[in-house]
Amino acid sequence: MQDAIKVSVATSLSAPLLFSSTKAKADGKEILTPAVSALQFSQIALPYAFNALEPNIDAMTMEIHYSKHHTAYIKNVNDAITAENLSFTSEQDFFNHASKLSAKAKNNGGGAWNHNFFWQVMKPNGGGVPSGKIGEAITGAFGSFDKFKEEFAKAATGRFGSGWAWLVNDGGKLKIGSTANQDNPLMDNSELKGTPLLGIDVWEHAYYLKYQNKRADYVTSWWNVVNWDEVAKRLA
Ligand code: MN
Repeated sequence: MQDAIKVSVATSLSAPLLFSSTKAKADGKEILTPAVSALQFSQIALPYAFNALEPNIDAMTMEIHYSKHHTAYIKNVNDAITAENLSFTSEQDFFNHASKLSAKAKNNGGGAWNHNFFWQVMKPNGGGVPSGKIGEAITGAFGSFDKFKEEFAKAATGRFGSGWAWLVNDGGKLKIGSTANQDNPLMDNSELKGTPLLGIDVWEHAYYLKYQNKRADYVTSWWNVVNWDEVAKRLA
């Protein structure tokens, strides 16, 4: 039972992140030195063009965010994994040990995962009101879709400094919360725990070029690009 749970968690987390455990295993057999980590993070291909989320998120912000910030998190976490000789079987395994990681490994690992997730829960011409199971789950948990949006926006605008706001599934219960810096709800030492269903990056680099200090305006526009199909998939 324990194994079954572990496998399903690893699958649901690794699939959208393009982490191929098969490749890692194959590589491990080919490489003679045994001190090669099983886990390296990979940056997903952006599922749309840099300008695809205009006017809600401008092309320059997307380009810098993806090709500078996110690329750096990926490189830095993999550098830390190598330099510190870390070996994890999956991203979940990595985050299960977050409290024991160096600041470099933890912060950049969070940044690597969080942005891979973020790109996927957005899409051009997104938004609207979710229907089906996810729509019912949100209404059930928060009273109405508008009430959910209000609470989520409050978490996003209320996070002091840099961080993320999340909708998570904590053992069947939907919850809203936020995390600081590049922390996420998968980390063993996170106050907010659960499977991330939706998340918004509220670091200034995510919105400052277009919205400057008006984080609330960014959050309001961001609802127009939420990819509810992806959110629904993560609840399944
Ligand atoms: Mn970011």
